[in-house]
Parts: sequence; C-alpha cells; structure tokens
Amino acid sequence: MQLKEIPLEGIPYDRLRIEKVPAAPAYQPRDPDLVPAANRAVVVNPDRICMPIGAMWAVLGVHRAIPFVQGAQGCTTYARYTFCRIFKEPATIATASFHEDAAVYGGRRNLVEGIRNLVVRYWPEVIGVVTTCSSEIMGDDIASFLKEARARLRAEIGPEKAEQIVMVQINTPSFAGSHVEGYDRAAKTFLQALAVKRDAPGNRVNIIPGLLYPGDIREIKHILQAMGVEATILFDISDTLDAPLEPPQRIPYYPPGGTRLAEIREMGNACATVALQADAGGSGAVYLERKFGIPAVMGPTPVGVAATDALLRHLSRFTGRDIPEELRAERGRLLDAMADALHHTMMKRVAIFGDPDIVAGVTRFTCELGMTPVAVAAGTPSRRFPQEVEAVFAEYRDLFLDAPKVFNGGDLFEFEEYLKTLPRLDLIIGNSKGVDIARELEVPLVRVGFPIYDRFGYQKRPIVGYRGAELLLYEIVNALLDYRYPDDRTQQL
Ligand code: SF4
Repeated sequence: MQLKEIPLEGIPYDRLRIEKVPAAPAYQPRDPDLVPAANRAVVVNPDRICMPIGAMWAVLGVHRAIPFVQGAQGCTTYARYTFCRIFKEPATIATASFHEDAAVYGGRRNLVEGIRNLVVRYWPEVIGVVTTCSSEIMGDDIASFLKEARARLRAEIGPEKAEQIVMVQINTPSFAGSHVEGYDRAAKTFLQALAVKRDAPGNRVNIIPGLLYPGDIREIKHILQAMGVEATILFDISDTLDAPLEPPQRIPYYPPGGTRLAEIREMGNACATVALQADAGGSGAVYLERKFGIPAVMGPTPVGVAATDALLRHLSRFTGRDIPEELRAERGRLLDAMADALHHTMMKRVAIFGDPDIVAGVTRFTCELGMTPVAVAAGTPSRRFPQEVEAVFAEYRDLFLDAPKVFNGGDLFEFEEYLKTLPRLDLIIGNSKGVDIARELEVPLVRVGFPIYDRFGYQKRPIVGYRGAELLLYEIVNALLDYRYPDDRTQQL
C-alpha cells in the first residue's frame, strides 16, 4: 500500500485521523443461494465453539475441581489457551491424551491411568470427566471406566481417600451442540450427581449464572449482599478464574474460590433456583424443580433496567427481602445516565450477535436506550431466543420501521452478508469474533459476551445489574462518539 507523504509543514489537526480504506465498496455480492447457513454444508466464521469448553468452564467454577478431558490433547490445549487469553489466569485441565491406539481400542486405559495420575499429583476434590467427539464416536463406556478407575485408586491410595474423590461424568459430544449446551449439561449433571434433599426448604436461593464473566458474578453477589439474600452460585468462577496473585503459591495450586461441594449438595434444599441464562444452566434449574419441587426461574439475563428489575423482584418474592435503597439509587443513576445519553443513542442502528441469552439481554437494553436493533444473531440455535427477541421488538415497536432480522443459529458469514445490504449501520455489539466484520463495515464494535480476547480487563467488567448496564452504556456512547464525531467537537457534547 502506498503511504501518503507527510507535508513539510506537518499534518493539520483536522486531518490527524488515519484514513480508512473502506473494504465494503469493493465487495462482490455472493451467490444468494449460498449465503444462508442452512443452504451450505460448511460453516463460515462460526459464532460458537465446541461443547466440552462449556463444561470445562463450569467445572473450573467448583472449588478444588479439575476437568479431565477424555479426548486428544488438542481438545484440551485449545481450551486452556482460550481460558488463558480471556481470563489471564492459569486453567488446570487434565487430558486423557488420546493417540492412534485409543482410536482403535477405545479410551479405557487412558481414562483409568489418567485419573490415577491426576489424583496422585494434584489431589483434587472433584474431577469433571468431560467427553469429546472422539470418545463419544468410539462409544467409550465412561461409567464403567470410572468404576475401574476408582477400583485402581482404592488399591493405590486406600479406600478411604479414594471414596472422597467425587467424579462427575459430563457427556459433551461436540457435534451435538456448542459451548452453551456444554455448560448447560454440566449444570444438570452436577446437580443430578450431588444435590440431595434433606429437610424442608430453607431460605437460600440457587443462582446458576451461565456463561457470565467474573465481573458479572461479582455484580450478582453485590446485589445478593445488598438485599441480604443467602445464595449458592453454581458455578462460581469469580475467584477461580480471577484469583488474586498471592505468592508464594504451592503446587498443586488451587485458587481460593469456587462453589464448595457441600454447597452443591445443599442446592436440593433451596427455596428457588434462578438460572440467569435459560440456555446455559436452565436444565439444572429444571432438574431441581422436577426432582425436588424447587421453583425455577429462567432468565432473563439481567442486562439493563427491566431485566435487572425482574431479577430483584424474583429474589424479593422468594425470600421476602425488600429491595434496599442502595439498589434503588443504582437504578436511579442508571436512568439518569440513560437520559443524559439519549441524544447519542436514540435511533442508532445496531446489530447484535453472540450467545442467545446475552444477545436477548443486550437487545432489550439497546431498545431501552432508544436504539434500533436491525439484526440480532444467536450463534447457538435456541428454542427460546426467537420468541424472546420478538417479544422485545413487539414491546418497542415504535422504534422500528422495518422488522429486525433474527438469525437463530447460522454463522457470522450469513450475518455479515446481511449487514452489508443495509443502508446504514451505526454500531455492532458482540464478541471479538466480530472485529473483522466491524472493520470491513467501518462501524465500531462494542465487545460483550464470549469470547473477548482482544481487549484487556473485560472479564472483570460487569454488564449485568444496574451498575453493569451503566458501564455498558458508557462504552456504547463512547464508541459512537469516537466514530461519529470529529475529535475537536467531542468537548461540546
Ligand atoms: S470439536 Fe471435538 S475434536 Fe474438536 S476440540 Fe472440540 S471436542 Fe475436540
């Protein structure tokens, strides 16, 4: 590319911006028959990753727990790499390390020896055995392998120690679903394996947060504490994947946090379960309702005013606790910021993509801000997602001239192709996988959801609750300001 010469007198202030070369004008329309993902045999730029990673995420939210991946090393390495990139924390994940012999003879020996090695080196309290494509296709009989593994442990470390180690089997064939379903299956499986009913329900609430970041879980804890609500959070990654650095650390190292085993067992005695993401964790809430009669609430993910109001109402209804002045003030401050920003956000056309629950939550919040969602895309297909966003569109129908386009499943290629046909787009909200799309369309990208690997500290920044929504609002407005206004005019806004 030829760079422009810098004139001897320098660059005047109004030309300091680097000129972007728009890629979109050179865009050649694709074969319309091949644009919809449903018409293709391949996925291009998927907005989902494999099922085991969701289960690993969940297991890492349990105290002294290690995921054991029954598959090849690659199925583990990429997950560890992903977690390290996103959380900037070490993620201890064991692997059965399949090679050709496992493909021929099955993964029994790998599992039995792998569990034995994991135990004698790391002494975990909980092992989440996460299956992969290869072990599921081979038909590994994990339940009987685990019996054999426990017999081996009994023989080597003694029956008492061997019995103390909890092993939970989570079947996650990646060809059957995405990371969202992997997390969902982990929630159900852990509760099936561990939750027990002892007596009449107490006043504790179960919270299954779904694929939310440590900063979000801290915000949920803040709400619970402000209301005086006692709760168990399954799976609590706030202090395992965002642990303080406290040298010297011992090996094996276990972060201080995570949901305790005893707490998971007690979840069978709660007064209610709130799954903040219906698609990621909702099955756990349904299981507790069917098995123990514990009322279950599914979502919405508490992004924005109405969804956070709904969470507070549920908590208040189940526990009899009032909504305190502290949270009312936070709500008021959010409303104040929304009113202050309305002339920036009103009628701005936004496209949103990511995991279904996050997209539904953010869609509602953008409507609360007076924005106009023009396209919303869930990377993982969901039964609830279309109804949820259509209900939001119906509620805010005055914002729309044309019906927003809803993608349920599909890939980002299809989403991008649609965005390129739009007369105007002001903003994209989604994860880091949208960077190239945003650059090509020359619109800003506000990063939310999973994964975010090209920004620093976003795992600590909440988007849930009133305070999280306020932070998200700042990002939306500042992204629009950076993009829409000359630098020398922003001081007047
Ligand atoms: S898609 Fe299957 S083979 Fe690939 S990493 Fe995930 S579990 Fe392993």
